[in-house]
Amino acid sequence: MKNILFLTGPHAVGKTYASKEICNSYENIDMIDTGPIMRQLYKESGFGSSIGEWVATLENNFGEDITSLLIATEIKKILSESYCDNIIVIGFRSLRGILYTAKYLNLDNYHVLFVDANRELLYENFLKREKNNISYQDFENYLDEELKSGLGEIRNCAMKNINSIKYYNICSDQDLLKKAIESYFMQERKLERKNEESYIWPVEPKYMVLDHDKYGLRPIHMILGKPRFHSGFDITSRTLTPIKASIGGIVLTAGLDEKIVSGSANWNERYGNKVEILDNYGRRLVYAHLREVLVREGQLIHQGEIVGLSGCSGGSRIPHLHFEVRKFNTSHSGEENTINPLDILPTYDLSLLTEHFDEPPYAEVWEKFLDNPWGITDKNIPYARSRKFIR
Ligand SMILES: [Zn+2]
Repeated sequence: MKNILFLTGPHAVGKTYASKEICNSYENIDMIDTGPIMRQLYKESGFGSSIGEWVATLENNFGEDITSLLIATEIKKILSESYCDNIIVIGFRSLRGILYTAKYLNLDNYHVLFVDANRELLYENFLKREKNNISYQDFENYLDEELKSGLGEIRNCAMKNINSIKYYNICSDQDLLKKAIESYFMQERKLERKNEESYIWPVEPKYMVLDHDKYGLRPIHMILGKPRFHSGFDITSRTLTPIKASIGGIVLTAGLDEKIVSGSANWNERYGNKVEILDNYGRRLVYAHLREVLVREGQLIHQGEIVGLSGCSGGSRIPHLHFEVRKFNTSHSGEENTINPLDILPTYDLSLLTEHFDEPPYAEVWEKFLDNPWGITDKNIPYARSRKFIR
């Protein structure tokens, strides 16, 4: 082992996903998550039930120093079992806590990278937690001091053999974090990309693409009547067309939209019957508005396997597949959590598609969307309330 990477900062929300994605994309990288280690230590120490306060409880009872020693012992065990050259350790403690842990790891011949969370976010959380009216400038000084003394202490006590220590103060943005990790490993020339499996179209596009189908902001949403970001790409397909897995992964959810089942949403809204798959790159793919779902939760899926049959369920008025690509494993959609599916799918000159949709009774409404993409509402759609056609 030559490198070790610490992602510190208790509120860098993106770190787990970004790290997992790196692990999935490259050879020779292993990840150690200190969260479960601390949870286990807490459990074994018998402090009783606690919601989310287990780190603080451990530190209050044992002190930061002993807690760090315990965590470091567990990390070392995992390190000795790993065959990977590069290890990413993600920590859910304070900067100081992580620095203490590093001291006890007694690392030899490692590179160390600290990645910290967005300081504005840390400041907000500090104010909430400490109920202290410290100014932002004073808080910054406090963090700088903490960092200086922490790094100094490690250098003095334990890290004389460490090759380099780098500190990055970046925000919790997934992409920035991923870039920071990648460029770090690239510099060290320890990174080999895995043979990439490339995505395939879940269903062959056959009909002309309407403005309405594209990823991006819709000036007026058909059902909501106001501007709405469209988080996926719609592939118009006749009812019961087989839908293939664009890439391998594991099924996270398969079935009716939970809000529809629970009755908290109208039948004619949202994703309808859908399959969500966490793919081999750590992205969550959503296949929505299906008629039939043919996989079950927890099932491993290979590229090209049929996950369901297309339909018009949920907030759909023309049978189509809504294909959505979330940047990471999140249940949230929207611009900040998704990418344009066309960015990962094989290039396809969609302007060559000129065929009009021809399945009755939807074909007539499809023509209306072609003429007037943003002026159609349920009033113009004769079957908008019919469960026979909207499903
Ligand atoms: Zn859609």
